[in-house]
Amino acid sequence: MGKCILCEKNCPEHFSLAWLLSWQALKQERLCRKCHEKFLPLLNETICPGCGRIMTKAELCPDCHTWQKSQGGLLKNRALYTYRTSAMKDYIERYKFQGDYHLRLAFKDEFQHYIKQHYPLKKWDLWVIPVDEETMATRGFNQVEGWLEGLNYHCDLQMKQRQGRIKQARKTRQERLRSKQPFLYRGPRVENRNILLVDDIYTTGRTLYYARQIALLQGAKHVRSITLCR
Ligand SMILES: [Zn+2]
Ligand SMILES: [Zn+2]
Repeated sequence: MGKCILCEKNCPEHFSLAWLLSWQALKQERLCRKCHEKFLPLLNETICPGCGRIMTKAELCPDCHTWQKSQGGLLKNRALYTYRTSAMKDYIERYKFQGDYHLRLAFKDEFQHYIKQHYPLKKWDLWVIPVDEETMATRGFNQVEGWLEGLNYHCDLQMKQRQGRIKQARKTRQERLRSKQPFLYRGPRVENRNILLVDDIYTTGRTLYYARQIALLQGAKHVRSITLCR
């Protein structure tokens, strides 16, 4: 018998042997059914192939057309859930902003399972999008690393020192799109490697496309991204 990570209720029927061996269990091992149903998964929806947002037709959204033109390629981002439910907003608030590290377990297994299935780690290197030093000092962890715990991943991207920079979360959409390259790279060349960028939320794509530029400069063959939400 286990406890749901989010509501902390015992959910005996969800942790029976039959349950644990089922596909459903793989997907929502750590959440009770009631909590899990409040999130809106994107993986079976019709999405934009560039950024993973819900679309009525599976075609590039206007933003991705713009990225295609300015960047000469797309991240083909995949997001597991929409950010637009109150369940996801609450979750991100509690985990990331209030810093409840235990909550990484709510999506850790599912996130890792998806990554391993779609981006075999022999062929793909995982690059974690960093948080800035101030956040790291107050919160004490990177939310993405929490979900990747136990996997082999790279933290060679670093945030440049903030000099009057505003936090991404406080910026408007226009401010985000105008922001400058925020990263430094301190790792080895990645000649001919495939790089999978991992972040929590895909918002405008601006940050992830800056990370993509660095990966390409370092010799990467393909660069894609995955986020928990979109
Ligand atoms: Zn629950
Ligand atoms: Zn798109």
